[in-house]
Amino acid sequence: MDRRNFFKSSLAAGAALSTGRARARETRSILPEALGLLYDSTLCIGCKACVAACKRENDMPPEFLPRTEQPYWDQPLDISGKTLTVIKVYRHGTMDKKDQEENGYAFIKKSCMHCVDPSCVSACPVSAMQKDPVNGVVSYDKDACIGCRYCVAACPFGVPRFTYDQTFPQINKCQLCKHRWKDGGYSACAEVCPTGATLYGKVTELKAEATRRRALKPGAATTYPRGKLGGPDQSYPGVAAKYVDRLYGETEFGGTQMVFLAGVPFEKLGYPNLPPRSDAATSETMQNTLYGGLVMPIVFLGALTYIAKRNVKDDEQGGHHG
Ligand code: SF4
Ligand code: SF4
Ligand code: SF4
Repeated sequence: MDRRNFFKSSLAAGAALSTGRARARETRSILPEALGLLYDSTLCIGCKACVAACKRENDMPPEFLPRTEQPYWDQPLDISGKTLTVIKVYRHGTMDKKDQEENGYAFIKKSCMHCVDPSCVSACPVSAMQKDPVNGVVSYDKDACIGCRYCVAACPFGVPRFTYDQTFPQINKCQLCKHRWKDGGYSACAEVCPTGATLYGKVTELKAEATRRRALKPGAATTYPRGKLGGPDQSYPGVAAKYVDRLYGETEFGGTQMVFLAGVPFEKLGYPNLPPRSDAATSETMQNTLYGGLVMPIVFLGALTYIAKRNVKDDEQGGHHG
């Protein structure tokens, strides 16, 4: 078969295989049994017990501030290959009042958002990033990972981190403490949180709890659950907070299984406005459109095969190639 006929037949085969494949993919919906966390910034006291528990339970090393001469304790400034969650602080002006935008301060948690339609899963070429089909938790398989870091580039929240300083580098990110689920265990950060600012549970129930809080009159007496929703009652009396009118994670990039309430606008807390359509849906639709199903990969594979065969033939004939 000469080169022209080879390409023609590749195209024909690709076109035949691709019939009906090139169509837009919609953003996926949240799973009914999805698990996640509700983080309420107004309840957070910045104690960082969650950060310490996360380190301990996930066997992560401490991180010392650069140029600290006598490092004594873990001081991560951001999530990294050694730190899966951090609590950051918003500060403005005189910092007089908590959860106030002007002259106030507020805390915010950072960790994997466990996206409903995760870009990291869509971008990973070897399925090392996976979304659990029942509870939707996004986990990572270091044995399958080839270190391409496509997930790092794809994540809209800048979450997966590569352990460049290790002999065998890998990706690190929160996996919702799935290793603790057996025997009724759950996320260490939620278990130790003294105020219930980080609360674990089914996303539907966490969202119902968020709706309850948002409906309260600021200052009204209420109770706050602690630890795990649906677990042993650890609720305590408190006072209703004043929230910005938003549950972050409800729609952003197709929604997330980590949802936030706060008294300060989320853009100020480092969580930007994002469109409701997931990146995964957009990129997979683009791939479908560009490739027309399998046309492009087959043409590309055909071209590579042709070149390889030509080179072998040249070698056999004692010719040279470049
Ligand atoms: S343990 Fe709870 S209160 Fe303390 S920093 Fe973490 S989220 Fe905030
Ligand atoms: S936040 Fe990033 S790493 Fe976590 S599931 Fe979403 S895309 Fe993946
Ligand atoms: S769920 Fe587990 S791994 Fe994720 S932030 Fe909380 S303690 Fe860390």
